[in-house]
Amino acid sequence: MIPPIASDFVAGESPAEAISHVRHINRGGVGGIVNLLGEHYEKRPPADADRDAYLALLTDLGREDVSGSISVKPSQIGLDVGEGVFEENLAPIIERAEEEGVFCWIDMEDHATTDVTVDAYERHATATDGGVGVCLQANLKRTPEDLQRLAALPGKVRLVKGAYPPPKGLSYRDRERVSEAYEELLGFMFREFDAGVAVGSHDPRMIDRAKELYEEYRTPFEIQMLMGVRTDAQFELAKEGYAVEQYLPYGNRWPSYFYRRMRERKENAAFALRAIAGS
Ligand code: FAD
Repeated sequence: MIPPIASDFVAGESPAEAISHVRHINRGGVGGIVNLLGEHYEKRPPADADRDAYLALLTDLGREDVSGSISVKPSQIGLDVGEGVFEENLAPIIERAEEEGVFCWIDMEDHATTDVTVDAYERHATATDGGVGVCLQANLKRTPEDLQRLAALPGKVRLVKGAYPPPKGLSYRDRERVSEAYEELLGFMFREFDAGVAVGSHDPRMIDRAKELYEEYRTPFEIQMLMGVRTDAQFELAKEGYAVEQYLPYGNRWPSYFYRRMRERKENAAFALRAIAGS
């Protein structure tokens, strides 16, 4: 059982709870991106177990009448064990997703995994004719080139600021510089993509920029935010007619995810402390 404050950020421990949360947010016009919590497995068994959990989740999502996709971390399905293991586990997940008509996102992890992740996306986006999406990080200096390479492919790209601090020479560290890079990359995506633009940010400035770019280029786009972050804004944007997707993690590895969310933003920690003091 997930305690009250953590349950603002995590949909539950079981797939049934995650799907129930998807159904709940669907009623407010928001789609769900379901992520089973888990990463950086050094041995094959837990990676294979999470692959199997995703296969079962996909069958459930396909059976239920919900608007839901999945998002998978490469190191969760074996990238730290070996690139071959990652591919062996990713392929059946994408195959099942295609069979069930469920969209499959691939999260982006640290900079050492960008090549293998983008290569996998390229292969599967082409093979599935766009049933797959990948995340790219604006804080990486290489991202303009990656976007150029991916612009003509079917599929979707989620642009985020980047959650993994890469080595200095390869990345922007200054927050304002990362925001500027994000805006420049969004401009490229709206100009060069026919569709498949996903704005993975809670930042009102980035979202306003996407709205302006939409007025100029009319490229379809979606806004993606995390469960528990700016929830009211998610439903307001959906009410205004924007496509909004909520990334919702579930599973029994929720404590480390929850503490990361707390560390990230002082507001979240202050809110949690107030709630504990009041309970
Ligand atoms: P920030 O730069 O953190 O904040 C900018 C402004 O946004 C703030 O000043 C505030 O106005 C507003 N804001 C932000 N958080 C809050 C809050 N809690 N409450 C109220 N206002 C707030 N990173 C990866 O590296 N790989 C991934 O695969 C990945 N996937 C992601 C998927 C989704 C759907 C999302 C939303 C993020 C993902 N990230 C991923 C994380 C991302 O890289 C950023 O670390 C994270 O989103 C913080 O950046 P930001 O643009 O949201 O806003």
